[in-house]
Amino acid sequence: MATATKFEENEPGKFYVTSACNGCGICFSFAVQNFFYSNDSSYYYISNQPADEREEADIRRAMEVCPTNCIKDDGVPV
Ligand code: SF4
Repeated sequence: MATATKFEENEPGKFYVTSACNGCGICFSFAVQNFFYSNDSSYYYISNQPADEREEADIRRAMEVCPTNCIKDDGVPV
């Protein structure tokens, strides 16, 4: 099985989406400020790192519900 890689479109920062994304869009419904879809709509990525604690909480909620567990936090400060 191929290793999931980080999408290049992710805005640099601690949160990112990997190629394990299935494009379901659930993350976008939880954190519309922070996720956006690819040109062909086949996957989503972090378009904006969180601007405040509320947005960070939204991303963490998206991480909890993401069906493929492909939203990651590498711990590097924004
Ligand atoms: S919830 Fe997860 S699998 Fe679904 S689009 Fe977002 S990152 Fe991809």
